[in-house]
Amino acid sequence: MTEGARVRYAPSPTGDPHVGNIRTALFNWLYARHTGGQFILRIEDTDQARIAPGALESIMESLEWLGLEWDEGPGVGGPHAPYTQSERHATGIYGDAADRLTAAGNGYYCYCTPEELTEMRQEQQRLKKPPRYDGRCRELTESDHRAREGTRRVVRFAMPTDGPPIVVNDIIRGDVNFDPSVLDDFILLKSDGFPTYHLANAVDDHLMEISHVLRADEWLSSTPKHLLLYRALGYEPPHFCHLPLILGPDRARLAKRHGATSVLDYRDTGYLPEVMVNFLAL
Ligand code: GLU
Repeated sequence: MTEGARVRYAPSPTGDPHVGNIRTALFNWLYARHTGGQFILRIEDTDQARIAPGALESIMESLEWLGLEWDEGPGVGGPHAPYTQSERHATGIYGDAADRLTAAGNGYYCYCTPEELTEMRQEQQRLKKPPRYDGRCRELTESDHRAREGTRRVVRFAMPTDGPPIVVNDIIRGDVNFDPSVLDDFILLKSDGFPTYHLANAVDDHLMEISHVLRADEWLSSTPKHLLLYRALGYEPPHFCHLPLILGPDRARLAKRHGATSVLDYRDTGYLPEVMVNFLAL
């Protein structure tokens, strides 16, 4: 068993926390307490358009109601403060990481407009190819870049186009192989300069010295990208554990049509926190 695991719950404040999402928090909290480690709350709010007013408060209230106190994070601070990505963004850490990646040839500026991207996707659909960025801005020369100075641009990761499969060693699933050639040159910095989930997540897990990433299954397909980012940035990757989702009786992902999904709805209808924790844990 790992002593003193550092784990995190990293919600995006896009609405009331779903019970499935809070279950991830519970598993992280349990693992931190079990190993005598730390449970960190990090707010992933770099997708500014998706932020819902009051969501941050609901997340904190849900955790507090269930007794999942965090050792570092909003409200309590800690050695890696701030713990909210929009505030971390202001310190320049994500931009610096993107600069390091571009300087080393692992990232590049892309000036494609939304219209060009739509056209590219349509063409790929027509040819029955998987939709992905075709890398056309990878080949731009110094003078091409100079000519585009001042135009809207993003920074993309330059995916290795061949090479061995990327192996995600997952604590639950074992080795999961991903073929790098089917992965996209994903965006690192958006045109507003904010990092994407992938970049901010990898940079923060490293800087916050996270030892174990315990998150929902739906993120498994992002993990090969994160592993490549770790490698390109010279970071030691954490251990990964992708947790199965909570399903409804019909085996589909638990959703509103199955009943209440918001943790706070259960509180408001009179459920005791112990009941909720017991249900989620089992
Ligand atoms: N911000 C992501 C979410 O909303 C975090 C995923 C992860 O834990 O890496 O679930």
